[in-house]
Amino acid sequence: MRIILQNGLPSSEIEKIVKELTEKGVAVERLSNANPVIFKISENGFSLDQKQFEKMPGVQRVLAGNAPFHLVSREYQPEDSRIKIGDQEIGGPEPVIIAGPCAVESEEQVMEIARFLSAQGLKIMRGGAFKPRTSPYSFSGLGEEGLKILARAREETGIRIVTEVLDTRDVELVARYADALQIGSRNMQNYQLLKAVGQCHKPVLLKRGMSAQLKELLMSAEYIVAEGNRQVILCERGIRTFNDYTRNTLDLNIVPALREMSHLPILVDPSHGTGRRSLVEPMSLAALAAGANGLLIEIHPNPDAAWSDAEQTLSLEQFARLHQKVKHLVRWQLENEQTLSAHS
Ligand code: PEP
Ligand code: MN
Repeated sequence: MRIILQNGLPSSEIEKIVKELTEKGVAVERLSNANPVIFKISENGFSLDQKQFEKMPGVQRVLAGNAPFHLVSREYQPEDSRIKIGDQEIGGPEPVIIAGPCAVESEEQVMEIARFLSAQGLKIMRGGAFKPRTSPYSFSGLGEEGLKILARAREETGIRIVTEVLDTRDVELVARYADALQIGSRNMQNYQLLKAVGQCHKPVLLKRGMSAQLKELLMSAEYIVAEGNRQVILCERGIRTFNDYTRNTLDLNIVPALREMSHLPILVDPSHGTGRRSLVEPMSLAALAAGANGLLIEIHPNPDAAWSDAEQTLSLEQFARLHQKVKHLVRWQLENEQTLSAHS
C-alpha cells in the first residue's frame, strides 16, 4: 500500500505521521523525497486497513497495491496537466508545434530558422547542441557553443528553446541556456539522468525509448516527477519493429492509450518516427487526429545539406504547408468538439 501525503507538509508533521504509523506496527519506507512525499507501508503480519490510513491528518490519498507509478497516472490526477514553456502551454485544448533543426550547425542556420518559425507564429524551437549519434565518428553537436547560439536566437526573436541533455554532468549547463530539457530515446532509461532533470526546475521533454513499453515510459516519467519536477511532456518518436520500409514504426496507438492512463501531455515526433520527409506531413495530421497534444518536427533551410537526419528533415516551405494543414485540422477539431458536445 502507498500513502501519499498532502503537498508542502512541514517536516515535523511528516515525522509525526511516520511515528504514528510505526506505533501502529506498520513498516514504513519513504519512496519520494520531494512533494508529495510518498510512503510505502507494509503489513507486519496483519492486514492493513486502507480507510484507517485515509483518515489520518496530513494524508492526501492511500493507494492499494504496489503499482510502479502513481504521480503520473490519471488515477492520481484526473485532469490534464498543462505545462508551460515560456508562455506557451502544452496540454491545453490546442496542439502545439515545436520545430527546428536536428542539430545546431551555425549561428546563420539557427537564426534563419528562428526568424522563420517566429514569423509562422511558433513559440518554441528545437535544436540539438549535444547529439547522441549511433556512430562515434558522426558529428556530435557544437556543445556549449551550440547552446550559446540557441540563446542568441531566443534573445533576438523571443522563441523558446528545447534542447537535449545527454549526461548528468551537463544538466546544469544545459538548463542555464534552455527553456526545456529533452531526454532522448537512448536515455529514456538512464535513471541517474532522469533523477538529475527531476531536480531541475525546467520542463522536461521525455522521448520514448525505441523499444520501451508504455509502462516503462510512464515509470521513467515517474522518476522525474518523484524528484519534484512535475513538468514532464511525453513524446512518441517511433519504435523498432520488423518493418524495413521506414526508420521506425510510429506507434500512434500509444497516444490515446497514454491519454487514458496519464495526465501528462504527449507530443508526437513524425520526423524520427518515419525517417522519411514525404511521410512527415501525413503522420503529423494522423497524430493530431489521434489526440496528440502537439508535434516535434525537424526542419532546415537546406534539408539535403543538413549535417544529421537530412532524409527526414523538411524544408521551410514544406513546413509552412504542413503548418497550414495543421491549422485547418485543429480548427475543424475544435468546431467539431463544440458541435458534438452541444448534441450530447
Ligand atoms: C532528437 O530529437 O534530436 C533525437 C535525437 O531524437 P531521438 O532521441 O528520438 O532519437
Ligand atoms: Mn534528428
